[in-house]
Amino acid sequence: MIRPIILLGDPLLSEVSAEVNKGSQADVKLLISDMFETMNKANGVGLSAVQVGVPLRIFVVDAELEGNIFRQAFINPVILKEFGESLKHPEGCLSVPGLAGVVERPEGIEIEWYDENWEYHKKSFSGFEARVIQHEYDHLEGRVYVDYLDTLWKSALAEPINLIHERKMEGVNYLWK
Ligand code: ZN
Repeated sequence: MIRPIILLGDPLLSEVSAEVNKGSQADVKLLISDMFETMNKANGVGLSAVQVGVPLRIFVVDAELEGNIFRQAFINPVILKEFGESLKHPEGCLSVPGLAGVVERPEGIEIEWYDENWEYHKKSFSGFEARVIQHEYDHLEGRVYVDYLDTLWKSALAEPINLIHERKMEGVNYLWK
């Protein structure tokens, strides 16, 4: 089922999401399946549960890079290490439709998490995958990338961001609320 995606300005996006309780397995599987469906419909590469109005520590990614499919659900993820250089790269967000801004992040991370079958994983990611994971992880901490754009990008995006706050942007359909 496609769920509506909340937009910048919704107070939920500033909330720290709660740990997922292993007891609620059926609900979590359904939520994750809905999140994949919603993200694919919205042409996103990552989506966190809070963006569909459920402030739990879950995000999904689905991206294809050089022929490799990176499709994974992350439950209760913990970033254990950051490594590599600090890199600047443009990012977009399904809760900030139509915009992109350059964000500085470490090149790689080591992360542990559970998947939708409560299997434990620990792995290092770098490049695009690490960037998508860090972006989604931020949502679980109540952070959106536009919060830490540099001054130049902040002023460049100020006007369209206002339009989103006022819910006056064009081209946003039923997927968003
Ligand atoms: Zn986002």
